Amino acid sequence: MRTLINIVLVCVSSNFSSVFAKDIDTTKVPIQDVYRLTSQERTKELRKMKDIPLKPLWDLTGHLDTPYAIALFAGRGEKEAQLISYYSEYPDEFKEFSATGQFITHNFKWRKLIYTKLHTLHGGKHKAVNKRRNAIRNAIKESLNNPNEIWKTGILIHALGDSYAHTKGKYNSPDERAFNKYTGHGIESIFLTDPDEIFKKENEEKYIAFITDLFNLLKTKNKDQAGFNSFVNDFRSANCNSNECILNKTTLNFVHGKALNSQKTLNATLTPLTKAQVVEALNMIKD
Ligand SMILES: [Zn+2]
Repeated sequence: MRTLINIVLVCVSSNFSSVFAKDIDTTKVPIQDVYRLTSQERTKELRKMKDIPLKPLWDLTGHLDTPYAIALFAGRGEKEAQLISYYSEYPDEFKEFSATGQFITHNFKWRKLIYTKLHTLHGGKHKAVNKRRNAIRNAIKESLNNPNEIWKTGILIHALGDSYAHTKGKYNSPDERAFNKYTGHGIESIFLTDPDEIFKKENEEKYIAFITDLFNLLKTKNKDQAGFNSFVNDFRSANCNSNECILNKTTLNFVHGKALNSQKTLNATLTPLTKAQVVEALNMIKD
């Protein structure tokens, strides 16, 4: 089973092997310290980190790297942040749970659940978009009451991220509505505007709303509010037209290397989630 899953994983993320082939040393600067540096100091540190690939897997940024960084800012421990990040990315790593993996299938009931709940492609208008975001927030709060089921939190965070990434129209305006799989926008949402494009200017407000939402849901008494604000400001002031530019102007390099390493380790040690477990998490979204 593990071998099969590893094969699927390699197929889904073809860049994995080339990234892992390099010896990524992310231990030089602890991630939380990086955010406390001034921007000049950070640039200096970034230049020292030559062994981290400058062009990592951007498709992992929204669901893997971001939840990891935000969980740390929120005051969660390193291990908890790793698990949240791992399970948030999880649906995109396995065919039975990914939107692209279920695009062609005979199991329409399963596809409907995966599309409308897990990847938030429900096709609703502004009111429905807000209602769903609220329902997912409530589900995440409930899941956080049980630290032994952190995988539920991660799966629900995937759905929360998609509730921002999978809409068209201006954020929180009457024009904002969710994509669905039956229209051209559905295709667009899966292949073109997924969270890997989160840093396009037109998606900036949605991305910042997502991380603010996530920070508020995950925050503890140990939260680093100043670090989080600085992270948000980096994005606002970057004024970029490409992901590469964002990468050079923010500290996402550090986040990516660490999150990717922990994903690799957890993938080799954790028992894969069953379909029933994923359904259990999705059933917590009540709208
Ligand atoms: Zn998704």
